[in-house]
Amino acid sequence: MELYGYAGKVLRIDLNSGSISKENLDVEMARDYLGGQGINTRLAYDIIEPGIDPLGPENPIILGAGALSGALVIGSSKLSATTKFPLNGAIGTAVACGFAPQLKWAGYDNVVITGASGEPVYLQIFDDDVRISDASDIWGKDIFEATDALREKHGDDISVICIGQAGEALLKISLALVDKMSHLGRGGFGAVMGSKKLKAIVVQGTRGVKMADPELVQRILEFVMGRALTDRNRERWIQYGLMGVADAWIDNAVLLRDNKREGPPPEETKATYGLKPWSEVVETTPWAGPSCITCDKNIIRIRKGKFAGLETTASVPISSSGYFGIPFRIDINSAVKCHDLFQRYGIDELDGAYLIELLIELQDKGLVTSEQLGMELKLGDAEAVMQATEKMVKREGFWDSVADGIPGVVGKIEGASKHVVQQKGMAHVMDGRACMGIEAFGYLTNPRGAQTFSLVRTPATALPGVPTELLQGLVNTHYQLGAGAQKRIFHDGKWNVGRITPHIENHNTACNCVGLCYRFFIGRIYNAVTIAAAYSAVTGIPLTAEKFQRIGERVYNLQKAANVREGFSRKDDSFPERWLTEPIKQEGRELWLQDYTKTDRLTREDAEALLDAYYEERGWDPKSGIPTKEKLVSPGLKDFAADLEARGILT
Ligand code: SF4
Repeated sequence: MELYGYAGKVLRIDLNSGSISKENLDVEMARDYLGGQGINTRLAYDIIEPGIDPLGPENPIILGAGALSGALVIGSSKLSATTKFPLNGAIGTAVACGFAPQLKWAGYDNVVITGASGEPVYLQIFDDDVRISDASDIWGKDIFEATDALREKHGDDISVICIGQAGEALLKISLALVDKMSHLGRGGFGAVMGSKKLKAIVVQGTRGVKMADPELVQRILEFVMGRALTDRNRERWIQYGLMGVADAWIDNAVLLRDNKREGPPPEETKATYGLKPWSEVVETTPWAGPSCITCDKNIIRIRKGKFAGLETTASVPISSSGYFGIPFRIDINSAVKCHDLFQRYGIDELDGAYLIELLIELQDKGLVTSEQLGMELKLGDAEAVMQATEKMVKREGFWDSVADGIPGVVGKIEGASKHVVQQKGMAHVMDGRACMGIEAFGYLTNPRGAQTFSLVRTPATALPGVPTELLQGLVNTHYQLGAGAQKRIFHDGKWNVGRITPHIENHNTACNCVGLCYRFFIGRIYNAVTIAAAYSAVTGIPLTAEKFQRIGERVYNLQKAANVREGFSRKDDSFPERWLTEPIKQEGRELWLQDYTKTDRLTREDAEALLDAYYEERGWDPKSGIPTKEKLVSPGLKDFAADLEARGILT
């Protein structure tokens, strides 16, 4: 049978034995799980035995191209990478922009890497020519140097997943970069590659993708292209990416300092770290992932002052100002330098910068001393941030525990846990006290940890002020919710964040299955109907918007089942204590946890009720926070329900 859209092959590589094999893609699996995160999760459930060491050879790395990747559907270049993450032991899928189209053109939908090499290696996938090659000359190099060396050897057209020294040193807060730009794998994906002595994966494909109905694909693309080109914010997104929202995030205390206790004074902070001072110091060149027409990434270059001429990449351009400048009160030049260090070493900025911020508070409170740290940490001292970063990467003394992330610090410093704001061992960006939108709530329920996943198509609820009617209209158009769900979510001019979040999570999961970006700039030009139509036109397999959402739910439930098997339950989804007991202070005002419309203060009981509503909407048991047997059986996960039942988890 001729396959359209899919490459039709799964590549299996065992680094223990060096064996490389190819097998046919299971077409039924493709119909049931679409691709990308879906097929990855289905494979991972079978391969990952509960309780395995994430840094042991038995933990696989499963890469998956989305079903639409490679067909040049706008914004469809998302790669899914599934593994058990060392930071918190969760099984999950990290997503990055790029690599997937080339993988498909090389002839593969998925790659399953198991085992570990004794010596540094990299994997090269060039159509049928698949090899495990010596990486001893690039081991020890940072991500930029190693990627450049691979490009020098194999040409500029390759796509590269690469780790830096942080991944090599098994930092549980390490990640990989795709093409020196896109982050892949908060929670220690870099360390999983490092534990396999796998420095990089290089791909180049020449085969293209056959489409079932290229003319229809073209018509759908013209339609979404029209929507993209009329977005009045498009030029701004292209030029500045998320830095374009910096001023609004500062005004609304989304960007915090003093370990999530203080929103910096808006006017002064915008004048120092907002878009205007940023553009005076930093020159930005737009960078787009393959097939993207409204990119949000930048190559950035410091124009003047300290570090003038420094050029680096910014997948999330707001990160220099937001994660370094504001919390550490250092100038933009130094903040970009810190960001560059993190990019090169392959450290997750959200966790790495947060850990240093947390240690400043713990040091001030006398819970850790400068003798223990081997240095003095203080605000306004960029050199200290850089020194701390170096110590982390070298796992020097006390910093060995910091390299293990929030769980490492909590395990090492008595009394630290009550000062930590985290979810499943990961630091937050969106704080529910600043805005209890879908994005902040989704940090609690994401099985992987406080990782951005529940992004809503414009208008996003990461900022306050979206009128209820507008949100309801958006939900109608984009997510195809039935009347029953709408009634449960929207009433009395308000909406229930616990009830709406599952539907956004299902949708975004399904987007990961087809490889489609769901960030605002791309997400807003599609809806479930156009995505389903594009899938049908590319693959020839009929798909409706309702089925698209249902498959997202199936994959989400399966991911949850895999994590329930690892021992995760409702206790891991709870609200951070600081959200419930302390306000954010910003210039004389206090921001307590409130509902999205900011009319009602949320007590601990209200917060628990929101979680109850979330589990009920999902059809899970609110008491345990795990899927019920009925729920797992209904979306086609019967075998997995039986597995959980046999293990005594489902009753
Ligand atoms: S918006 Fe950004 S992440 Fe999404 S496809 Fe474009 S470049 Fe990639």
